[in-house]
Amino acid sequence: MNSQWNGQFSRYDRVARTGEGERQRTVIQAGGVEIGGDQFIVMAGPCAVESERQLLETAEAVAAAGARILRGGAYKPRSSPYTFQGLAVEGLKILEKARAATGLAIVTEVMAPEDVALVSEYADIMQVGMRSMENYSLLEALGPCRRPVLLKRSAGARLEDLLQSAQIIAENGNPNIILCERGIRTFETATRYSLDIAAVPILKAVSHLPVIVDPSHASGVRSLVPALARAATAIGADGLLIEVHPHPDEALSDGMQSLTFDQFRGLMRDLQPYLAIRESRRVVEAELLVAQGEH
Ligand code: PEP
Ligand code: MN
Repeated sequence: MNSQWNGQFSRYDRVARTGEGERQRTVIQAGGVEIGGDQFIVMAGPCAVESERQLLETAEAVAAAGARILRGGAYKPRSSPYTFQGLAVEGLKILEKARAATGLAIVTEVMAPEDVALVSEYADIMQVGMRSMENYSLLEALGPCRRPVLLKRSAGARLEDLLQSAQIIAENGNPNIILCERGIRTFETATRYSLDIAAVPILKAVSHLPVIVDPSHASGVRSLVPALARAATAIGADGLLIEVHPHPDEALSDGMQSLTFDQFRGLMRDLQPYLAIRESRRVVEAELLVAQGEH
C-alpha cells in the first residue's frame, strides 16, 4: 500500500488490499451484470421514480444507449420536508416492472434499517446515499442482506471514512460492496459539490472493491456531466452513475443535473475513446500490482 497517501487504510482489512488480498479484486454479480470485472458498467435513470410512464420510457432509452443498470429512488432523502419524498413501495413496484420490460438490473436507495428486507425484494443493488454513509444501524442491517451494496461517499467523509463504513457492512456479513465517489463539500460554489477525481486511483490502489463515479450529484449541472464522466472513465473507474430524465425541467428532484435522452446518448457515444484509454491503462496497472506483490 502506498505510504504517500494519508490514512490508515489497511486497518479496514476486509475491504483494503492487505497481505494475501494484495492481488485480488472483488467482482460483484448483480442481476446478471458484473461490476468490477472487465466491463465498464453504466447505471442510469432518474433521480426519483415519479411514475410508471416516466420510468419505463427512461429505462428503454438508457438500455438502448448501453446502460446495464437502471437507477431510480423510491425513498428519497430530501433536505426539505416540503419537497417530493418518493413513491416508496409503489416506486419499488414500478422499478420491478421496468426490469421485467428491459432486462436492466435495478439499483435503488434504502434509507432505514427496517426497510432493508422490503427493498431487497425489488432491488438488485442496495444504494446507501451520502447522507446515510454514517448511519451505522443501516450499515449493520445491510450485513445479512443478500444483495450487493452501492456505498456513496459522504460529502464530508475522507476516503478512510468511506472504507470504514464499507468495513462495517463487510464485518456484518456482506462483502459485496461498490464504492461511489459523488463529490465532496469544498469551498467551491460554482458546482454543487467538488468531484474528487483522485479518489478513483487511490481507492483502486488501497481497496479491492469496485469504484464508480457519480458525476451528476458531484456537479449539480448537466452541462458538466459528460466531461466529468469522460475523466472518470479515463482514470480507471469501474463504472458511472448518471441521472437521466425524459423532461429534466419537469423533474421532481435533481432536474438541473439530469440529462435528456439525447444528451445521454451523446455521453455514451463520446465515452468510446476514453474506454480504450481505460482498457490500456488497466493492463499496465495490473502488471504494476503484480510487480508490487512480488517485491
Ligand atoms: C441520489 O443518488 O439520487 C442521491 C440522493 O445521491 P447522494 O446520496 O449522493 O446525494
Ligand atoms: Mn438525485
